[in-house]
Amino acid sequence: MKFARDFRDTLANQHFPVHWVEQAIPYGQLKKCLKKVQRELHDLGLDPETLKSLTDPENTSPVALNYRLNTTGDGHSVRPILTVDVHLKDGVVVDASLTSTSRKFLEKLAVEVDAARRRVSNDDRDKDVSDEPHLPSQVTENNSAAEEVAQEVGGHHETIEVPLIFDNEFFDILQSDVNNIDALQASERRNMTNEIQELRQEIGQVSQPSRFSKTDLARWRQIFELYLDAEVFFATNEQDHGARSSQVALKKLQWFQQEVETRQLARLFKLRASQQAFARFVQLNSNLLKNLQFQELNQLAVLKILKKFDKRTSLGVSKRFRLAVQPHMLMTGSIGKDVCAQLSQDLVTVVPQLTDYLCPICFAVAYRPVRLDCQHIFCIRCVVHIQRRRERYCPLCRADVVMQASGCNLDNELGRYMRKYFAKEVKEKERSDDIERGMEEYGPTYNHKECIVM
Ligand SMILES: [Zn+2]
Ligand SMILES: [Zn+2]
Repeated sequence: MKFARDFRDTLANQHFPVHWVEQAIPYGQLKKCLKKVQRELHDLGLDPETLKSLTDPENTSPVALNYRLNTTGDGHSVRPILTVDVHLKDGVVVDASLTSTSRKFLEKLAVEVDAARRRVSNDDRDKDVSDEPHLPSQVTENNSAAEEVAQEVGGHHETIEVPLIFDNEFFDILQSDVNNIDALQASERRNMTNEIQELRQEIGQVSQPSRFSKTDLARWRQIFELYLDAEVFFATNEQDHGARSSQVALKKLQWFQQEVETRQLARLFKLRASQQAFARFVQLNSNLLKNLQFQELNQLAVLKILKKFDKRTSLGVSKRFRLAVQPHMLMTGSIGKDVCAQLSQDLVTVVPQLTDYLCPICFAVAYRPVRLDCQHIFCIRCVVHIQRRRERYCPLCRADVVMQASGCNLDNELGRYMRKYFAKEVKEKERSDDIERGMEEYGPTYNHKECIVM
């Protein structure tokens, strides 16, 4: 009772778009349908206890129930199938330890199946019994034990499908709604992907390094550095690995916005287009968050209704439904993962971050970059140092490449790129390299003068 109300309230209060709310899991409708399922089973004499004992793999009774969810090849529809294995002798169930409830169930079932059989034999008298509308008999774990009994006392084994109308209806509703939500999320994801591409171009333009016109490169760099630190949707550190819940993501996003605000990063943009792009960036993030919230809420509704189903029928559908359906559906949470990866890999990288261009030995910008034959990059000063020490192996991958490095290994194109995007850091690096070289030549008392042009 409580969840139904919470679910309705949350859907109404979270400011989800109307067309989303219309697609939400119809929890109330499913609950009503579940009542009919329960009645249907009850009418067959299958109350939860009887179902539990007859579907138990340890069950040694001559009657065994088998319940499963069959999916179509594409996983877009589910059909629940309840079959009963009975051991018949002269048309009567061989009774070893039948409880009165299972006897009652079988008597009712016999009437239904008998009617069905008569219909079929009227249609086609030559057809074999196994061609009847129920599924062909399936070997279950229970069969072997029951089979032994059958051989001892004579008679034969039969698998009969129990007709379930409302159970089918329940899964029709549930599955078609899950499919709708998946379709909705797929279209949301496409929209966000397009938005990311557009935004990438916009931000690329306003953060172009330029000496002669206005640029917001430095601000965007700080903003994205903060954004990466915030790890809004995904944790990258060890203890906290993986996708975040929407609640955590919300807090992280708020932290990010607060930091940008405190440092006045967005307010002091030089270009108007930067302001607009930042607003779009924030909007994109909150849109992704909304998607996550909606997804979580619906997942919870599915989980709750299946649990309720199990409580009332003992048919174990929670597990079966997950196994049968989940591999096909987006509701497993991939929307966050995909879009986040695009946000942090495609969008944020449009503004290069210094951390990606540091020399792994001196931790300054790797200017002038030397690309060793193993493709690892270090600043020229550090390569000179390790060569002087006659260390042959790359400090990162231990390949025997250091002594072969020469002027040919200088990556001039990368050097120009660093100069363009990290002008300040490159200048600092050049200065400290000059001082170091001076000290090497003239001793520790070397006094570096900025104005000297070499
Ligand atoms: Zn270095
Ligand atoms: Zn290497």
